[in-house]
Amino acid sequence: MERKIPWVWIVLGCLLLLAPGTFGRLFLDLAEGLTLTVLVLPLLLGIGGFVGWQLLQRRLKPCPACGFVSSGLETCPACGASLANGSGPSSPAEFIDASTATIDVEVVDDERN
Ligand SMILES: [Zn+2]
Repeated sequence: MERKIPWVWIVLGCLLLLAPGTFGRLFLDLAEGLTLTVLVLPLLLGIGGFVGWQLLQRRLKPCPACGFVSSGLETCPACGASLANGSGPSSPAEFIDASTATIDVEVVDDERN
């Protein structure tokens, strides 16, 4: 009497291994969590960094006279120009770009002698 190969039990065992049982589900959850962490964490960090950089950039003010970038200051720490208006000079008499400025020196005759 030859015993039959228990195909039913082999198939059942395979199904138990392949099907998302307790162990399978745990493994899938772990893999899913790891994948989510690996995928979402850099994304969140990137978004957070981007938003932070945008907020920081909004606060930073380049000096209209010399271009020195500072934040939360009324006057430029490098050249002392007023940064109250933020972008651009309010009147050209107050803020003159140092790279284009020319100084006119007038010769005045002293007539006291
Ligand atoms: Zn400046």
